[in-house]
Amino acid sequence: MHDVIIIGAGAAGLSAALWCDELGLDTLVLEQEAETGGQLLRVYNPIENYLGVRAAGGREMRDLFAEQVKDAEFDLWTNVEIESVDLKARRIALRSGEELRSLSIIIATGVRRRRLGIPGEMELAGRGVMESGTRDRDIFAGKDVCVIGGGDAAAENALLLAEVCPTVTLVHRGKQLRARQEFVERLRGEHCITVFKEANIRRIIGEQEVEGVEIMRAGALKPFEMAVGGVLIRIGVEPNTELFREQVHVDERGYIVVTGEQETSIGNVFAIGDVSNPLAPTISGATGAGATAAKVIASRLNER
Ligand SMILES: Cc1cc2nc3c(=O)[nH]c(=O)nc-3n(C[C@H](O)[C@H](O)[C@H](O)COP(=O)(O)OP(=O)(O)OC[C@H]3O[C@@H](n4cnc5c(N)ncnc54)[C@H](O)[C@@H]3O)c2cc1C
Repeated sequence: MHDVIIIGAGAAGLSAALWCDELGLDTLVLEQEAETGGQLLRVYNPIENYLGVRAAGGREMRDLFAEQVKDAEFDLWTNVEIESVDLKARRIALRSGEELRSLSIIIATGVRRRRLGIPGEMELAGRGVMESGTRDRDIFAGKDVCVIGGGDAAAENALLLAEVCPTVTLVHRGKQLRARQEFVERLRGEHCITVFKEANIRRIIGEQEVEGVEIMRAGALKPFEMAVGGVLIRIGVEPNTELFREQVHVDERGYIVVTGEQETSIGNVFAIGDVSNPLAPTISGATGAGATAAKVIASRLNER
């Protein structure tokens, strides 16, 4: 029986683990990937808004976090596959057959990129379907590209790619872009960017690599094909809550609803970081929430 089991070892989970260790709690962290860091491993832009630390990218920041927690005494299991979780009983069954129990659970499973679910998206990943505009910009320099999405991430990436690509087509299914005004105005000023609103990508075309996209515009009778050498999909994120959403209170998008103490609708089950923060997901928000949950758990155990 552990005092705390933390599910997820991104910024939120690592911060909670560090605090739990400092507060003398017997802590186990379960991470499904081979390495810790979560989304930080996919941040290619410099991080300059986390107070006290500047990093050239997410991996560098993850390495700083890993260095800081390496002497802490919590257990960290990576490559863990969780089969099921009974939050009320605070019991976790692993695919390996092992069963774990704890007095408290902290859910820190973060978010993942939303997928379009269209032909070509997965098959051509890394072969024209980009991982990141920042990271892949030089590879796609000189090619016509298509960016899918209408929020800040899509707009920002379209602007970045427009610096090196002859044409950038931004395809958005809504009537209006959701990106902040500053980006919308800059998009308008870029002569090589075309914005298709109320349009859907039906498939990404290509055998060995991306050759084009099939676009269906609102009101059109049939789709048309457009030749591009690269596609970037930025249509938002969704929370990793499949294991829990039947048991705890979640909002309409599946994010876990928490109290000011980061507690879920089930006592002694907490949720921290992006998985419970749809409005302002940040590294500082994630690490702060980790500290809050750890301190609440420690003070409850002390009272006992
Ligand atoms: C491109 C990009 C740029 C960004 N730039 C900034 C920035 O400049 N400043 C800033 O403050 N924030 C930035 N962010 C946001 C920031 O990265 C996140 O808010 C923060 O990393 C969230 O941490 P987290 O621990 O809550 O979640 P995550 O990082 O998503 O970590 C969740 C972890 O849980 C694991 N997990 C999920 N499901 C399971 C399971 N079933 N079992 C075990 N483990 C599981 C995952 O593998 C992952 O390791 C950026 C994000 C992106 C994508």
